[in-house]
Amino acid sequence: MKALVKEQRGTGLSLRDSEKPRPGEGEVMIMVKAAGICGTDVHIWNWDKWSESRIKPPLITGHEFAGIVCETGPGVQHISPGQRVSAEGHIACGVCEFCRTGQAHICRDVEIIGIDRNGCFAEYLTVDARNLWPLHDAIDDHLAATFDPAGNAMHTVMAEPVAGKSVLLTGAGAIGLFAVAIAGSLGAEPLIVIEPNERKRQLALEVGADYTLDPAAPNLAETVLDATEGLGPNILLEMSGNQHAITSGLRLLRNGGTASMLGIPSKEITIDWARDVIFKGITIRAINGRRMFDTWFQTQNFLLKHGELARKIITHTMPIDDYLHAFDLLNRGEAVKTILDVA
Ligand code: NAD
Ligand code: ZN
Repeated sequence: MKALVKEQRGTGLSLRDSEKPRPGEGEVMIMVKAAGICGTDVHIWNWDKWSESRIKPPLITGHEFAGIVCETGPGVQHISPGQRVSAEGHIACGVCEFCRTGQAHICRDVEIIGIDRNGCFAEYLTVDARNLWPLHDAIDDHLAATFDPAGNAMHTVMAEPVAGKSVLLTGAGAIGLFAVAIAGSLGAEPLIVIEPNERKRQLALEVGADYTLDPAAPNLAETVLDATEGLGPNILLEMSGNQHAITSGLRLLRNGGTASMLGIPSKEITIDWARDVIFKGITIRAINGRRMFDTWFQTQNFLLKHGELARKIITHTMPIDDYLHAFDLLNRGEAVKTILDVA
């Protein structure tokens, strides 16, 4: 089968012929129709420090997808060939304390598809049947391939009720833009977005932001305070992982506010803990992955009702054969969410 593979340590991926997998006990084989490129795939392409420490080539990358079950392995009962599916990419152990208390998203022994085992940038992949998400007929393959990033956004936004609250969102990348669309549709008001890329600021307005700001704007703090009764926003949604965004987001947050933190800094960061956290009495929530499967139900409802907003975030679709062009556009910040047509 055709697959996009990290063949050895170093930059790039190559499209090559790879052995078709077989579904093991409790697994299904899926024919991949559409696969989304995540920021993580771009990190793996660029072979950054994180990839160096985590990825063991050869590996088929990719974890955001929609496809069709074409074969079931031994012991799989609740799903049959022909079913359209996406899947939670975090394969939790199912037996640790966290898995057994409804917190499989922080499983101690998680394995992630396209990172720790072969992923979806291929004509076929095998996945644990427990991880499947059967797709609603009204959600097409391109939109369905966004369940994973839209789910990260949903998990972050749902950490604290946003209706009627002022929200500051830092980092309007793909996940940040989904979070803008979700928070806006849930009644966040005003919804202020800080993002350096002009095209993404424009998209943020199109999916529901009230104001957008460049982090380099000289009057950034005044503008945010003016829009929030001089007190700062009730809620911070941090979706950049950037040190400056985290520092200024926490500083602008209102006393007693809540910061839901999704962005992953590439190295240790510094926070003025006394001034920006303790004395303000804020709550910080760390967000990892998607809740299994509460977040998936919420994301399905969002995609069914607001699919047209989500579709604006898919800026590019192209055949998997054009992967060089796809990764180039992403590396240059010209594409936001790119979906590869696989079959
Ligand atoms: P992305 O790179 O597409 O988006 C990050 C955005 O932040 C970019 O648009 C960038 O221009 C913007 N940015 C950079 N500097 C900024 C600044 N000073 N102020 C405001 N914005 C700034 O990444 P993504 O795929 O949308 O993911 C968002 C973040 O979430 C990343 O850090 C990613 O590693 C992380 N992530 C976390 C989880 C999780 O489970 N916690 C899952 C997926 C991704
Ligand atoms: Zn577990």
